[in-house]
Amino acid sequence: MPAMAQTFDVCIRGAGIVGRTLALLLARERMRVALIAPPQRSQGAPRDVRAYALNLGSRAILESLRCWPDDEHATPVTGMDVFGDLDGRVQFDAASQDVDALAWIVDVPALEQRLAEAVRYQPLVEVVREPVDAPLTAVCEGRASSTRTEFGVAFSVTPYSQSAIATRLRCELPHGGIARQWFTPEGILALLPLAGHEVAVVWSLEQSLVPEWLHSDAQSFTTRLQAISQNTLGQLELIADRASWPLQQAVADRWCGAMAHETRHSWVLAGDAAHNVHPLAGQGLNLGLADVQALARILQERDPWRSTGNTRLLRQYERERKAALAPMGLAMDGLQQLFARPEVPVQRLRNWGMKGFERSGPLKSWMARQAMGLL
Ligand SMILES: Cc1cc2nc3c(=O)[nH]c(=O)nc-3n(C[C@H](O)[C@H](O)[C@H](O)COP(=O)(O)OP(=O)(O)OC[C@H]3O[C@@H](n4cnc5c(N)ncnc54)[C@H](O)[C@@H]3O)c2cc1C
Repeated sequence: MPAMAQTFDVCIRGAGIVGRTLALLLARERMRVALIAPPQRSQGAPRDVRAYALNLGSRAILESLRCWPDDEHATPVTGMDVFGDLDGRVQFDAASQDVDALAWIVDVPALEQRLAEAVRYQPLVEVVREPVDAPLTAVCEGRASSTRTEFGVAFSVTPYSQSAIATRLRCELPHGGIARQWFTPEGILALLPLAGHEVAVVWSLEQSLVPEWLHSDAQSFTTRLQAISQNTLGQLELIADRASWPLQQAVADRWCGAMAHETRHSWVLAGDAAHNVHPLAGQGLNLGLADVQALARILQERDPWRSTGNTRLLRQYERERKAALAPMGLAMDGLQQLFARPEVPVQRLRNWGMKGFERSGPLKSWMARQAMGLL
């Protein structure tokens, strides 16, 4: 409908968690939003088995939109226990950081459903099938964004030779609200607490090993995870399908620009369309939600005569968010590389480093607060 086409302030391409959150944040500030979303998922589509570790910053954003899932689907993490591949070990706990929880493990389908419902009841968000004319196009299409490519934006990808297998387990012993991670030369295993005796699994391992563990029988799979996790949670039972994601570190070289066909109109990238980090610290979506919070704030604070496509504002967003991403990307990449090295001296060094870090009061506390989204 060409008459409607003039009425939007922002067109959002991609209705994942980041795109929907942006739509709701902008609509709350009285901006009119077109959100490109595909038709409803078909009944037979597989359920996303993932559960994300979301920090305090993400919780505040989602709560302010009334989209934070109920307690059954958002489990507080009261401690973290990270094991090296020798005797290295690092522990964090919520009490010593003076918070109720270090993070929450959030069921992905439950969160997606809350956001989809909120979008349905927000009259300033119109769900559309095709791009519409708007002063600003926000690209939230995830890591494989075709619009990013169409706009000629370079995406510098560092592929890891690893994929992550995700699934869920029921465990014999209580997890006690502790998120546990084991670094081994073969990969990194994370068991994240869910409601009751269940945990979400994120197992990042060498690509060549992935088909075997994706398709092995349930018994061999749980026996292997029990061995890596040193039987900490007792007998493990597989209770969901397994799915895998190839891992990469990536960043777009430009996060905003002018539209080729209409130079007064602009585009901007957010979430995984702009950056990917290794899931070992569970920060990808936290960064994406912080992106859209910053973008919505900058657009909301603009002078009334400036359009949402004002490039000065968008560059301010790009600078702010690239600065926040840099330390996180470097830390995740460094840790991943350090634990991927099989040589014995490197193994000793990393475990020695973990023990030093464990004793390093202020540095450890700074890292914890950074990961919690408090800095
Ligand atoms: C195994 C694993 C575990 C993870 N764990 C965590 C964690 O614990 N904590 C955390 O913070 N992060 C985690 N992440 C990262 C997190 O998954 C991503 O950062 C997050 O999903 C990015 O959201 P997004 O909305 O930007 O992109 P996506 O989730 O990829 O959504 C993009 C949306 O755009 C749509 N789309 C794509 N192309 C088009 C198009 N051309 N037109 C219209 N729509 C389009 C897609 O269908 C999709 O709906 C994990 C990632 C993996 C792989």
